[in-house]
Amino acid sequence: MKRPIIVFTDLDGTLLNHHDYDWSAAKPALATLRERKIPLMLVSSKTDVEMLALRRELGNTDPLVCENGSLILIPEPLLASLGIEADPRSISDQYYYDYRGLPREQILTVLNELKPDYRFTGFAWMTVDEVAQYTGLSPEAAALAGERKASEPVVWRDTPEAFTAFQDQLKQHKLRIVKGGRFYHVMGQCDKGDAVRSLQNRYQHHFGAAPFSIALGDSPNDLDMLKQVDAAAIIPHSDGSHLEDPALNKAHIAPKEGAAGWNEAVLTLIDR
Ligand SMILES: [Mg+2]
Repeated sequence: MKRPIIVFTDLDGTLLNHHDYDWSAAKPALATLRERKIPLMLVSSKTDVEMLALRRELGNTDPLVCENGSLILIPEPLLASLGIEADPRSISDQYYYDYRGLPREQILTVLNELKPDYRFTGFAWMTVDEVAQYTGLSPEAAALAGERKASEPVVWRDTPEAFTAFQDQLKQHKLRIVKGGRFYHVMGQCDKGDAVRSLQNRYQHHFGAAPFSIALGDSPNDLDMLKQVDAAAIIPHSDGSHLEDPALNKAHIAPKEGAAGWNEAVLTLIDR
């Protein structure tokens, strides 16, 4: 018997083109996943409000992972079938908010303490216009990107040596820093891989058997997720280079960047 399939995907530079955030080239694969009732879970460094807006555009109704794995949102109608008994206080706007890291206020307290010793900035210290400049987003979209709940995007302006010391300091505060497509992200000690593992277990409950899981990504912050699945796909960057890791030597490398590469990789892997 064929195993049920579930798909996890990064957004920026993976399902969405890095330069224009467009995903129209992915439409054929998105339609195929919908027809075959294969769950597609969006996994990103983006915030819940940003991701929910995009998810509506995509017509997607599956769980989603925000802020690099710090927060999982499960739609309320799926809770019973995924075997989740959620505390009603954790449900907001028909989503169960499963916090896996630390709240942003706690992260900002630590970053404020470290600010005098290191040269860096984060969304908390930027205006909406500055966030728009850094991300290439419209001011409206940049405002949504600023609504972090469990992580802080950081621009590093100090030396690599200082970065190592900074990383050690964060560790002492039970925080970590991961590299995304445009920023570093300071967050609790969780990652995209932990969140994916949690959802794999939920779907095992749902299907009554371990699903065959696929993940697609392009950056170092996707590594934990890509290592956690049965089949990984890497989307190359615009200069033709791509994420490399010894643990991913069996990964499928998409022939194109962005949404077009995503489309090819999904269609290839679901029929393998
Ligand atoms: Mg990415």
